[in-house]
This record gives sequence, structure tokens and C-alpha cells, in this order.
Amino acid sequence: MAKITFLGSGGGRFMTITQKRGTGGFYIEDRIKIHVDPGPGAHLRALQNDLDPRKTTALLVSHCHTDHFNDVPILIESMTGGMLKKEGYILGSKSVIDGREEYASIIFPYYRKNLKGIISLKPSEFFDIKGQKIEALKTKHSDPYGIGFKIYTDSGIISYTSDTEYFKEMENQYMGSRVMILNVTRPNGDKIPFHLTSDDARVILEKVRPEIAIITHIGYKMHLKGAEDERNYIQEKSGVRTLIGDEGLKIYMNGQLTYQEAVK
Ligand SMILES: [Zn+2]
Repeated sequence: MAKITFLGSGGGRFMTITQKRGTGGFYIEDRIKIHVDPGPGAHLRALQNDLDPRKTTALLVSHCHTDHFNDVPILIESMTGGMLKKEGYILGSKSVIDGREEYASIIFPYYRKNLKGIISLKPSEFFDIKGQKIEALKTKHSDPYGIGFKIYTDSGIISYTSDTEYFKEMENQYMGSRVMILNVTRPNGDKIPFHLTSDDARVILEKVRPEIAIITHIGYKMHLKGAEDERNYIQEKSGVRTLIGDEGLKIYMNGQLTYQEAVK
């Protein structure tokens, strides 16, 4: 049974700096254990939510912005048992893995020598770790090499948009998902380039129709305007049960999909 634990619903520069909402990404436990987009606080929040970073199999890093990659070094140290064994994988965009233009690779040679696999992915490329299939998805973001992820668990598909603006027919790549995780940075009617608004999320969900949607990467303006209203708008308009990926939210993907919200 696949389980997802959220480690904060924040994103964007000002939310990351202030930590009004956490930026620890989310954690999937299935055939392998995967930590997706570990921004600032990811390591600490994982420990505080009873996850053991020493047992993580793979880090998935969608692009080279600090709210997505910040805790990669300490998580590599965790996966490799303090750099004492060769263990763990890191999958990411070309900007994260190889460095591109203004982004240098965030994985120093020191860390590379103890990892089992360091894999850069382009949209629609697949990688398999111990039977866990992971696909890279297309985005349109200010890191032009950014990717989303589709994770094929034994209990169904989880799709993650990562940071992207809406582009034509982007929904097609999420089809068949049981769970959709959307980075909704901006509230309805307040669009900026390279990010999704609540209304973009509604459009995507109306087409994909997953069993549940989780919105995360909530930016500062959306936080101030009221993320709960935006969540409600998306859910009412799309007809898809929608939650906010606050720290501690857990999704259980057994026969019937269930969830447990964070204790506040
Ligand atoms: Zn970004």
C-alpha cells in the first residue's frame, strides 16, 4: 500500500524565507521510499513526522530552485549513512544533475562518489528503481529544464506538476492518476508567468479527474488571501476532493483511498 506524507504546503521565495508554511516537499512509501522536492526544512520535518531519512531510497528533484532542492546535501548524507556506504539515488532535471546556464549542479563530487545512481531526466523519459517506475513530465517554468513526475505505485499513479504555468494539453500527461499533486502558487485571478493559479488547477482537474487532489507550493500572496477559500473554489468547481498539503497530511492508497489530516 502506497502512503504519502506531506512536509509542508509552502513555496515561492517569500513563503520559503518566512516559513509560514513548510517547504519540505513530500514523501512516498511504496516499493521504495522517495522524497520529492526537499526544500528548506525537509530533513528536520521528515524526522518530526516519524520518517527516517536514512531509509530513503531516492530523492526526486524537479528543478534548480532552492524551495525544491535545499536539503539535498543532508539527505544524501542520511541515505549514505553519513557517507560510509554507497547507497541511494537522485533523479532530477538536467539543471539539478548536470548544471545548466546560471545553475551549477547542486550535487558536489564529494556526494556523487557515495550515490548508487545520479540520473538526469527529460520530459517523457522513464527510470526504474527496484520495480518502481518513475516518469519525467513536461513543465513550463523559469528553470527551463524543470520536470514534473509521474510515480507508478503498486496502488496506482501519483502525478506531480512541479512548478509550471498552464500550457495547452498539459493535462494529457497526468491521465490515469489516482492522486494529483499540484503546485498552485497564485490565487484565482492573480496570474503570473511560470506558475499555476487556482483556476488553472480547476481546469486540469476537470480533465484528469483523479480520486483526490492535493494543492501545495502555496505562495505568500495566496496564503494572505486565504488558501482555504482557494481550496474550496477548486473542489467546488472541479468536483474533485481537494486538500491542502499541510505538514503531517497523510494519504493512504489502499483499495479505498483514505487520508488523515495534520493535527493543528
Ligand atoms: Zn521554481
